[in-house]
Amino acid sequence: MTALQHLATRYDVIVVGAGPAGMGAAVGALEGGVDRVLVVDREIEAGGILNQCIHSGFGLHHFGEELTGPEYAQRFLEQLLERDIEIATDCYVLDVAHDRTVTLMSPEIGVRRVAAGSVVLAMGARERTRGAIRIPGSRPAGVMTAGLAQRLVNQIGVLPGRRAVILGSGDIGLIMARRMTLEGIDVPGVFEIMTHANGLTRNIVQCLHDFDIPLHLSTTVVEIHGRDRVEQVTVAPVDDRLRPDLSRARTIACDTLLLSIGLIPENELSQKLGIRIDPATAGPVVSSAMETSRDGVFAGGNVVHIHDLVDFVTQESLLAGESAARFVTGRRRPADNIRLVAGSNVASVVPHTISSDSDHTVYLRVRRPLEKSWLRLGDVYERRLRYVVPAELVTLTVRPRFLERFHGDSLVIDIVPRDEPGRYEE
Ligand SMILES: Cc1cc2nc3c(=O)[nH]c(=O)nc-3n(C[C@H](O)[C@H](O)[C@H](O)COP(=O)(O)OP(=O)(O)OC[C@H]3O[C@@H](n4cnc5c(N)ncnc54)[C@H](O)[C@@H]3O)c2cc1C
Repeated sequence: MTALQHLATRYDVIVVGAGPAGMGAAVGALEGGVDRVLVVDREIEAGGILNQCIHSGFGLHHFGEELTGPEYAQRFLEQLLERDIEIATDCYVLDVAHDRTVTLMSPEIGVRRVAAGSVVLAMGARERTRGAIRIPGSRPAGVMTAGLAQRLVNQIGVLPGRRAVILGSGDIGLIMARRMTLEGIDVPGVFEIMTHANGLTRNIVQCLHDFDIPLHLSTTVVEIHGRDRVEQVTVAPVDDRLRPDLSRARTIACDTLLLSIGLIPENELSQKLGIRIDPATAGPVVSSAMETSRDGVFAGGNVVHIHDLVDFVTQESLLAGESAARFVTGRRRPADNIRLVAGSNVASVVPHTISSDSDHTVYLRVRRPLEKSWLRLGDVYERRLRYVVPAELVTLTVRPRFLERFHGDSLVIDIVPRDEPGRYEE
């Protein structure tokens, strides 16, 4: 850790955020050949969102073991400490300037400017709130995001209520449905406006089915009732244009409404820096080296796009850190020569560009579920997919041999129903 009073005036790489992305980027930077790395986080402890995720399910890909969130964070924290990477906690990054001067603020040192050879943005994401979906009704206590409830229960030791309805079937809501049931809070149901659940299948099974918590698809909360505290909510089914059918509305008594309606990448710093943002991900447009549109500024983790598994956050941010080190030491990889374009049933693609001379991991999010599909990379490569859902990222390793017959500069990626034969099949 850094005693903030001993902060240097210049670092090779400064990482903003000490969640799994920030810690992965710091390790990647060191492995990439620099030795003066600073990681900054506004929280008192490093670890990011993992510190409040006390359930298991983390690290199956990266460590080959099932860890809890704090255990996963601890593994990285130990690596940072062993390698003398400096960590400044309880310290807010106010600004990253075009010349990569980073402005910090902490109760210990006040405001301080520190120069960086390169910067990695790893600020994570925040939850969407009631305002984002404009639920009508009064504004009583007891309406909160699922992540806040998770922090209250798991870190502060306070129950958010006694009977909680959950709106949205994102992973945090599913995990909290189980967590609250275990704590003796009654959960009458999870309500999801879409026709499909928005969380990982394993969470639907382990958090709802195993605890007999009903999931109501194509249903939403249309009104919140209560003066000081939530007393009940009205729920109604929606049609295929998501319009509620109020003739079939019903009320449910509860004192808490948890919202699990999505995460938004935390990109205020990126926007101030003038970095190009992809409207599909709400995160920076990045190259295959995880470099943003601003020279020497890299990004990884939820700040770039929302991940379902922390292992992919780690994979991506190790690369961002290594690339940040390469930038500082003048060993940048050649520029990308292919732009990836989201095609049919693909909502987003990260990274946004790749090169044809090395392997690249590409993350795709589909728009709608498909039972059996083809993943197609232009007309040069195709692969069978069994079951795709918007909640689970599809990963694809693009190899130079796939691109031998490709001569353009934009490659469209489609994920289409497998009701037609494969192009390259017998
Ligand atoms: C409830 C929940 C359950 C999950 N369950 C699983 C699971 O079972 N298995 C799994 O693999 N994954 C799971 N995930 C996903 C995984 O935890 C996230 O993908 C991962 O934590 C994202 O890492 P990150 O570093 O990008 O962001 P975060 O962990 O959010 O870290 C970002 C950090 O940046 C800091 N920061 C932001 N802005 C600033 C600033 N201006 N100055 C200083 N610091 C700043 C924040 O304080 C924070 O510490 C879950 C996520 C949630 C929310």
